[in-house]
Amino acid sequence: MNAFLMQSESDWNYFTVPQKHGLFNYNNNACAFPLGRVVGGSSTINWMMYVRGNRRDYDHWQALGNPGWDYHTVLRYFKKAEHYRGTRNKNTAEYHGRGGPLSVDDKRWGAPLLAGYLKAGQELGYSIIDANGPEQIGFSVADMTQVNGGRSSVAQSYLRPALDRGNLHIVSRAHVTQILFDDEKRAVGVTYEHLGKRLSEWKWDEDSVARHLYRVSQLLSTDVQLQQDTVCCSYPALMCSFNKTPCVVVTQH
Ligand SMILES: Cc1cc2nc3c(=O)[nH]c(=O)nc-3n(C[C@H](O)[C@H](O)[C@H](O)COP(=O)(O)OP(=O)(O)OC[C@H]3O[C@@H](n4cnc5c(N)ncnc54)[C@H](O)[C@@H]3O)c2cc1C
Repeated sequence: MNAFLMQSESDWNYFTVPQKHGLFNYNNNACAFPLGRVVGGSSTINWMMYVRGNRRDYDHWQALGNPGWDYHTVLRYFKKAEHYRGTRNKNTAEYHGRGGPLSVDDKRWGAPLLAGYLKAGQELGYSIIDANGPEQIGFSVADMTQVNGGRSSVAQSYLRPALDRGNLHIVSRAHVTQILFDDEKRAVGVTYEHLGKRLSEWKWDEDSVARHLYRVSQLLSTDVQLQQDTVCCSYPALMCSFNKTPCVVVTQH
């Protein structure tokens, strides 16, 4: 299914430039570079593997001068975000959360080769591990960001449950062209194009100025979400809930 979502209208359809030092097995040394262009962003088209990454990377980020990014602190938020439904990781239960918005489940189907792959790992002396647990050297089957076999995307996990809130506005098929800042360099709104109309402007009044600008789009990087009093992280597994604060999501589809 994911393969069909790539290079569909839910994808920005980017392509790399020909690479000098890589992609040797691709025509012209260039390949597709998928990125979600849809409500929920790439979490709506991704492969749904729930892998948080390595503890040492987080600790290293903190050591570089980023307080609060150490693994111990970040783990709290991983757990807070997660609703673990799987049965495989009984021995590492303390690394998983329950009751969070992001549903994580066992992988329901695996190619026959998967069992052979795990067996091969064991024959080599490695354990079968929970890749989100304490030990990351070993062989494992990835957990999935899924609920009842369906996708647990950012849209499904965070936006859908919040749709009834008066302080959430979703403008789909809109393209943000500019982020507006006040004199104190706080993001206060966006300029965007919508349904052929150009330069529509969405601005918050003084009381609801977005104080934290969360990972701003391809204007700065990839995403456009302005929220008041809410600091979010961009990885789906790390997304915090919206709280009761104004939030605008302006998205391409
Ligand atoms: C094919 C694929 C497979 C992946 N597989 C996995 C996986 O198995 N496990 C995993 O953990 N991660 C995976 N990822 C990575 C993961 O999905 C992304 O890291 C994550 O979704 C990024 O979230 P984000 O909110 O930072 O950005 P995005 O999800 O990219 O969201 C950005 C959103 O902003 C919109 N936008 C951008 N510019 C504008 C603009 N100017 N105006 C309006 N809207 C705009 C985009 O259309 C998009 O909807 C995969 C990604 C892809 C593409």
